[in-house]
Amino acid sequence: MIPYVTETPDIRIPANLLPGDGRFGSGPSKVRPEAVAALAEASGRYLGTSHRQKTVKSVVGSVREGLAALFSLPEGYEVVLGNGGTTCFWDAATFGLIESKSQHLSFGEFSSKFASAAATAPHLGAPEVIASEVGTHPDAVTRDDVDLYALTHNETSTGVMMEIVRPAGAASPDEGGGLVAVDATSGAGGLRVDPTQFDVYYFAPQKCFGSDGGLWLALVSPAAVGRIARIHDSGRWTPASMDLAIALDNSRLDQTYNTPALATLFLMDDQVRWFNENGGLEFSAGRCDRSAETLYAWADASDFATPFVSREADRSHVVATVDLDDAIDAATVAAVLRANGIVDTEPYRKLGRNQLRIAMFPAIDPEDIAALCACVNHVVGALAG
Ligand SMILES: *Cc1c(COP(=O)(O)O)cnc(C)c1O
Repeated sequence: MIPYVTETPDIRIPANLLPGDGRFGSGPSKVRPEAVAALAEASGRYLGTSHRQKTVKSVVGSVREGLAALFSLPEGYEVVLGNGGTTCFWDAATFGLIESKSQHLSFGEFSSKFASAAATAPHLGAPEVIASEVGTHPDAVTRDDVDLYALTHNETSTGVMMEIVRPAGAASPDEGGGLVAVDATSGAGGLRVDPTQFDVYYFAPQKCFGSDGGLWLALVSPAAVGRIARIHDSGRWTPASMDLAIALDNSRLDQTYNTPALATLFLMDDQVRWFNENGGLEFSAGRCDRSAETLYAWADASDFATPFVSREADRSHVVATVDLDDAIDAATVAAVLRANGIVDTEPYRKLGRNQLRIAMFPAIDPEDIAALCACVNHVVGALAG
């Protein structure tokens, strides 16, 4: 390890190497300038207007229809939304989705948090937590007493993605099997998914959807809708703002229970339209595939960088984690990049590794990922020289 440095070395990256946009953070992440311009253009008619009137409700309706199209939702699936982001959705799920026992695949910071929320809920039984080493993911195990399987499409803290499939041999939820609920906060819109494999696919707008935080959205199957209604009717005490039945009623009217952030909704809608107008999930996931191919090929070929996730199929196409050689301090590299306008490549703080974490969400231009690789090469060369 090179000694701890308190000052960022003065390294200027040549302008011709710099990416067009320097935002590579894993959330909040790059918001497309075109979406911001569209918001500015519409602002006089839209911002500061009632969320119970048509102007705003039509944007909520457009987000709901756009997501149904983007994910090719089967008949009977619905799009629900509410305030508070994914973290609040976990709390809502402990009230309104888990009947008594959940199973959680825990393989990083985010997937472990939902498990903790379920573990501390006094009205639920102890959850089953299946953990694996960081940089890998466990698989769900079918159990008769589990009524909700909690999966994570992309573990943002470690850069591991997993394919979304119902646990092997599990009965369908319509026949008493557990619901499959997927935290897709950083995966939704950037990774392909088959909706018949989940009952709840939930996310927030500040990652692949290039908007701001503070909202949660969930794609729910008819079985999940049934579960929400049954728990609501059972009389289990639930704070109204956490009540998924209330959220569902409001969503069906293209509104939220309480006031949403209108700019967030607008930017989200703009991104969903951008995806759908250009070919849908194939377009958005295709951009992530191209970025991932460029980035991992660079790391594989580099003599100082190695993809952190060893199994190729587990390497995320939306958030890459790349370990650097011990001789190069990743924090210094990230600081030099930052001083040159390339931001948020620092690793997830609690992972504590000598690595860079780079978002490859659909808004991020695959060409900019190639430029970023060239910039890292330049910085590492300059630090060595
Ligand atoms: C960002 C993220 C969250 C947290 O989302 P909030 O909207 O901040 O609550 C949860 N899960 C995953 C996988 C994430 O990437």
